[in-house]
Amino acid sequence: MSFFDEFGGERNFNLVGKDDAMKAAQYQGSQRVRVIEKSLRSLGDGEILLNVDVCGICGTDVHIVEGTSRSSPPVILGHEYAGVVADAGHGTSFAVGDRVGVDPNIACGVCFYCRRGLVHLCTALKALGVDIDGGMAESSIVPVSQLYRLPAGFPPEQSAFIEPVSCAIHGIDLARIRTGDTVAILGGGTIGLLMLQLARASGAARIIVSEPLPRKRLLARTLGADLALDPGTDDVAAAVRDTTEVGADVVIECVGTPRTAELALGLARRGGTVEFFGVCPMGMTIPMEPNAVYARELTIVGSYVNPHTYGRAISVLEAGLVQVDSFQIKSFPLDSVEEALACQREGRATKSIVRPQ
Ligand SMILES: [Zn+2]
Ligand SMILES: [Zn+2]
Repeated sequence: MSFFDEFGGERNFNLVGKDDAMKAAQYQGSQRVRVIEKSLRSLGDGEILLNVDVCGICGTDVHIVEGTSRSSPPVILGHEYAGVVADAGHGTSFAVGDRVGVDPNIACGVCFYCRRGLVHLCTALKALGVDIDGGMAESSIVPVSQLYRLPAGFPPEQSAFIEPVSCAIHGIDLARIRTGDTVAILGGGTIGLLMLQLARASGAARIIVSEPLPRKRLLARTLGADLALDPGTDDVAAAVRDTTEVGADVVIECVGTPRTAELALGLARRGGTVEFFGVCPMGMTIPMEPNAVYARELTIVGSYVNPHTYGRAISVLEAGLVQVDSFQIKSFPLDSVEEALACQREGRATKSIVRPQ
């Protein structure tokens, strides 16, 4: 018996105090985002309806709108979100009123990679807010497999950071920082500042951050960077060499430009690790000398999304291992989504968040 048979056909789920249409920020192609009215479809088996409380905006949203990602319009944006369960559907362990965070990356469960436990490499991976409708909206329908219950008292603003923290944790796992290491981080935006704190928590003794904006350099210093360099005026490679004599043990590229990707390769010591975390637009290339990678025995590693790290991200934030209170967070109503995206793109806020309710 299906869910719908049991309840006598399809149901339309009304939100408290609203009709069955909701407002949502839809990417429509040609660099255009519009706030539209969209009616809610019925819940399927294993789905819940969420009233979205907070949705973060990141570089991925900017890439989507600029047309340089895999996302194809029309799609409702928003992959960093949390909210309150408005309808729990049948057979789920969630109840109306539960506060939950959403892991946006949905793996198929049956492909070669899923069956090897490499869910983030799933050949049919779909992400809420990228491939299918996400949470930059008053409401969102989410498969129950993607939900994590939030601890009591978990601050709403912090819930916009769970997804980026979960991705950063995967990056830190792959970077294999050892106690006492020197870590160089290129980029002092949200991801760079999260990496800085996670690197410290992982035992890094010395952390060097390179970031062009003075405000973010100051924030990096406040959050524990030993050295915050300005790539516009400082010779980053020389400064890393002077500080370490040999180069950094681990270099984490968190910008996603060919220039910083190339710089990252030059900052690592012999036998060091260079991680590409920042998202370079597809098709961009950099010159690389294979002999230098060979002779210096570099490990070059990519880090993609957040396999099995969402729950750990909640724990890290709850324990205060990562502080986001000092980040410059700018909050926008849903109707101002274009301004929120511009603010993120131009670096006027460390983090733009949308509060749809
Ligand atoms: Zn993101
Ligand atoms: Zn799969």
